[in-house]
Amino acid sequence: MVHNFNAGPSILPKEVFEQAAAAILNYNNTGLSILELGHRTPTFQAVMDEARALVKELMQLDDNHEVLFLHGGASTQFMQVPMNLLDIKDTGAYADTGVWGQKAVKEAKLFGNVALVCSGKENKYTAIPKDFAVPNDAVYFHITTNNTIYGSQWQKIPATSIPLVGDMSSDIFSRVIDFNAFDLIYAGAQKNMGPAGVNLVVVNKNILGKIKRPIPTIMDYRNHIADGSMLNTPPVFAVFVCMLTLRWLKAAGGVAAIEKLNNAKAALLYNEIDNNPLFRGTVVTEDRSKMNVCFVMNNAALEEPFLAAAKANNIVGIKGHRLVGGFRASLYNALPISSVQVLVDTMQAFSKQYA
Ligand SMILES: *Cc1c(COP(=O)(O)O)cnc(C)c1O
Repeated sequence: MVHNFNAGPSILPKEVFEQAAAAILNYNNTGLSILELGHRTPTFQAVMDEARALVKELMQLDDNHEVLFLHGGASTQFMQVPMNLLDIKDTGAYADTGVWGQKAVKEAKLFGNVALVCSGKENKYTAIPKDFAVPNDAVYFHITTNNTIYGSQWQKIPATSIPLVGDMSSDIFSRVIDFNAFDLIYAGAQKNMGPAGVNLVVVNKNILGKIKRPIPTIMDYRNHIADGSMLNTPPVFAVFVCMLTLRWLKAAGGVAAIEKLNNAKAALLYNEIDNNPLFRGTVVTEDRSKMNVCFVMNNAALEEPFLAAAKANNIVGIKGHRLVGGFRASLYNALPISSVQVLVDTMQAFSKQYA
């Protein structure tokens, strides 16, 4: 068995792979592959309806919040959010907590003004900024709830008087939060929900339609809402696999149940990092991500041999992002705790050998 700690695209439940594979050959005994079904058929409509309903249910969304599955990765939302919400003279407030937040800022500047209300840059993104004020006259405040590359996570969602926008690409459905506190949530599917090629967008419809800019048809959230997320051909297979994963999550007890498991997985690994003399975590304790665990070795010369030891134990995907170095173990929903235990055992065996 391979222990898959990839940051994204990343592990999905085995039963989802099995169901998706079967559906490629013959979907629900239709004699057709899921790949060759018309997207306007009742058969696919049922998939889209169920996927959207599962999101609403698992996030406990109120009726103002609309659920869309849109093309493009999360990077498309860096542009689509300001295109829909930020007029040329308006200001969007942004938190810079890492690479993805910076990329969101870069795109927003194409549409209006950006107020950078806080940045983790001075401390090399090892902490989530704590003392900052969000301007009341900004039209929204954008945060990246989990910083996939640096391994930090907002443990407390900031309270704001203005609409809150969250890039949740790497911690969507991983923990219980008040999703209704956000007016717009987006997430590329490939971290914790499905295959690459689709974005989940949850938007409070009341924040739309407030700007003067003409919005291209396919970029306007209102058109996607009006057409039930079927404005054009959706990424049908990606939506289908998301639906399977959401079904799996619901059967597993939903977000609260998976959060318990995620907490146990993260505690197991961070505990080893903190107690093993060879390793150390890169993010301050209170802001550590439960999804992407970043750590380095006190003696950098041991990193290559450790990577080899991990590989020998069928551990894949733990090499850190080049900006941080060291290691990053992504503990997404579908990763079993037994895989984390294998990584911990490998760290312990390695320290016996080298300490
Ligand atoms: C991966 C990631 C992105 C980029 O996703 P793409 O689908 O490649 O555009 C954006 N934000 C966060 C937090 C991510 O983890």
